[in-house]
Amino acid sequence: MKTVISIPELRAARAELPGPVGIVPTMGYLHEGHLSLARRAREECASVVTTIFVNPTQFAPEEDLDAYPRDLERDLGLLDEVGVDLVWMPTPEVIYPENFQTWVVVEDLTQVLEGASRPTHFRGVTTVVAKLFNVVQPQKAYFGQKDAQQAVVIQRMVKDLNFPVEIVVCSIVREPDGLAMSSRNAYLDPAQRQAATVLSRSLNAAKDAFQAGERGADQLRAIVMDIVNAEPLVALEYISCAHPETLLELDGSIERALLSMAVRVGKTRLIDNLVVGG
Ligand code: AMP
Repeated sequence: MKTVISIPELRAARAELPGPVGIVPTMGYLHEGHLSLARRAREECASVVTTIFVNPTQFAPEEDLDAYPRDLERDLGLLDEVGVDLVWMPTPEVIYPENFQTWVVVEDLTQVLEGASRPTHFRGVTTVVAKLFNVVQPQKAYFGQKDAQQAVVIQRMVKDLNFPVEIVVCSIVREPDGLAMSSRNAYLDPAQRQAATVLSRSLNAAKDAFQAGERGADQLRAIVMDIVNAEPLVALEYISCAHPETLLELDGSIERALLSMAVRVGKTRLIDNLVVGG
């Protein structure tokens, strides 16, 4: 496994890789969720490139950029075990040279859900992913359903800007008690970690209700809300029952929906989601 930092080094190493090339963009501090993406890429592509970059432009000034957990040595060991060919670990200066002023913005899809809570987040995500695609020139790119809106936004960007990249969205990997794996779970103390199971518990309760015949969007949102509100260590930021592709909130009776939520557990912000109706 080769590791590179600069763009000339990356381009030289990329030129040696047989195609199809799969890219797995990450912010590091890897867990089984990230590794499931890398393994899928390994199965489907002749070459696998993973990027590790804590992208400053997707964090707002008050967010956790400086505190974001990092363990490069461990990450490289894990990626080596999966059989990744090339790891690109650019510095912020490599990605954002002085006087950088060009942004990629997906408009309507980023106004809702995570974008409503984090207004500058997706501009940072789409800009960095567009740059990764331009430099690495992958045929396939692997993203997690954990960040459901991100996957929808990237798919829109790829269509709108004609990137010749197939986006593969991989299922959420969870801890045995249901908590979706996240690098940010490392922030939780034991009581918060226990309380954080309320995300998957409440979403599953709504899914059970759907399977038992409940179709009301308001009712499904209320099921999640009531369970979260009963957990004193957790504050609900939003619960959404939206169309899985347009991300617009649904009313009345639904056939298929993305149930997604964000909460705060102390200072830690956690998200989770599931799709009901196929
Ligand atoms: P991050 O390092 O948080 O930017 O995540 C990098 C990629 O891993 C994104 O496409 C995430 O959606 C994906 N990912 C993160 N956590 C999980 C998880 N628990 N299951 C599946 N994919 C995940």
